[in-house]
Amino acid sequence: MNMDMICDVCNTVVSHNLGKIVSAKDFKTLMTQGFGIHKTNIEMLTSSGISQDEAINILKQQYATSTTDWFLCPQCEIEATEAMRGNGSTS
Ligand SMILES: [Zn+2]
Repeated sequence: MNMDMICDVCNTVVSHNLGKIVSAKDFKTLMTQGFGIHKTNIEMLTSSGISQDEAINILKQQYATSTTDWFLCPQCEIEATEAMRGNGSTS
């Protein structure tokens, strides 16, 4: 069975067997590495008159309260992996 899913980060439609499921806990870790706020979602808010900074804050708050798993498309999976690798050892 083939099922289409929507990437929770960038809203791209992909087949569910191509994407990656990330737990809410892991997603929050990714957010601390600067991943997760996609410009598509920022633009969706700024187009309704909200400033960019405010849009990012709204999205961060929304994402921080999420307790469900996240579905990532292959492109976002790559970006998530890079975010973890790139900033993971700077502390
Ligand atoms: Zn994506």
